[in-house]
Amino acid sequence: MRGIYLDGIVLDEYADMDPRVWSEIIRPALADRIGWAVFIGTPRGRNNFFELWRRAQADPTWFAMMLKASETGLIAASELALARTDLTEEEYAEVKAGEERAMLMKQEADSLAHELAELKRYEREEAAQEIVRAQRRAAGECEVCGTRLNLARRFAHRPRCKAHRLSVGFLEGASNPDRLV
Ligand SMILES: [Zn+2]
Repeated sequence: MRGIYLDGIVLDEYADMDPRVWSEIIRPALADRIGWAVFIGTPRGRNNFFELWRRAQADPTWFAMMLKASETGLIAASELALARTDLTEEEYAEVKAGEERAMLMKQEADSLAHELAELKRYEREEAAQEIVRAQRRAAGECEVCGTRLNLARRFAHRPRCKAHRLSVGFLEGASNPDRLV
């Protein structure tokens, strides 16, 4: 898994994982793409998952949520009631705790995914515009508007018509026209 790049990852049953998988492999792999991570698992005492749970609760950039079996309906109420009669108080508490599904998510996940999508959309637009500009340059047209250029202008560093000659330094047609190149 080393050397990979990730946009996002879901780590299920994180309690069973070596915490170094996150710190040494996954975290760096997410950094390049500002990726997100979701940790899901069943609490099993004070382990690495518990540590993460505590950290996520204290850190406002993380989102932490616990889904209890008794509240989510993952286990039918009748089953829980049945377990209640069959088991001692202690055993029942253990079963119930074991069935609680804790879910931790980075709070940035949503906004980061959105930012990433925006960035990709912008990059796609940019790439598409660059292709159009290259095609226009090859055809001897103004790279901004496609107006056919005379020979002198055609071989300029940035082949542009008279109207667009002065707009060098701006991204024409980009979503933010004030953005400097
Ligand atoms: Zn033009």
